[in-house]
Amino acid sequence: MVKQIAPALTARLTWYVALQETYACRSHLEPGFFHFFAFPEISPYPSAYIKDNLLVMEVVVRLEDKATQAMARFQEHLWKQIGIEQAHLIRWLGCRVTYAAPRGLFCFGTERILVCGEASGLLNLFGEGISSALASGRIAGKVSVNSIEQKVPPGRFYRQEIETEKRKTISTFNYKTLLFREGSAFNFKKGLHAMDWKERLIFCQNLLKWRLTLKT
Ligand SMILES: Cc1cc2nc3c(=O)[nH]c(=O)nc-3n(C[C@H](O)[C@H](O)[C@H](O)COP(=O)(O)OP(=O)(O)OC[C@H]3O[C@@H](n4cnc5c(N)ncnc54)[C@H](O)[C@@H]3O)c2cc1C
Repeated sequence: MVKQIAPALTARLTWYVALQETYACRSHLEPGFFHFFAFPEISPYPSAYIKDNLLVMEVVVRLEDKATQAMARFQEHLWKQIGIEQAHLIRWLGCRVTYAAPRGLFCFGTERILVCGEASGLLNLFGEGISSALASGRIAGKVSVNSIEQKVPPGRFYRQEIETEKRKTISTFNYKTLLFREGSAFNFKKGLHAMDWKERLIFCQNLLKWRLTLKT
């Protein structure tokens, strides 16, 4: 649908492949946190966390790269560095993904066609889009009812009402806020305090390298 409505905009999007694997295993990965591994040589986006006592691992690669190879690199790293043992694959999921927000490439439809959810570009930096999909769907429904009552097309109202969701999504791509603001998703201070100076230097190098390899 978006390709039909806005072909020029769609052509500007950079597409990636996301791969998620879930393991039953013995692990020393700290639970309760979303762990991001800023190692561009593994993938632009290696992350892992514990959910329901299972280890969930994710990688994101460019379309021309192989997600399975990136996952193998990530596994090798995690297995060695975090101490993952007796791993048994439970689930394997993958899809194509694009990040429209950092370049403002949203498509909310036309005057009479409303696009909501991930299709419109409402996907945050962490690849989360459920809450904005629900919120934008609700807004689309509400403005549609109003527009029928007022006998006007809903597009303009939708674009006005969706602005807050749009800004929320964009704000997750603000790395300064993300890394240094208290209470944000990354507990940056805690991580830095746990490192010695040499490790901090390597970490900053990797983070910078990672940021430079990220093309949105
Ligand atoms: C592995 C993985 C893990 C994720 N983890 C999280 C997470 O932890 N938290 C989070 O917030 N988000 C997560 N997401 C993202 C989240 O799932 C999506 O952002 C969200 O589901 C988007 O909702 P949506 O309704 O916009 O689109 P979708 O859920 O993709 O729904 C679109 C629907 O439209 C259907 N469809 C497509 N084309 C057509 C067509 N031509 N005709 C008819 N039907 C069509 C599809 O079959 C699908 O059912 C994850 C995604 C993946 C792939």
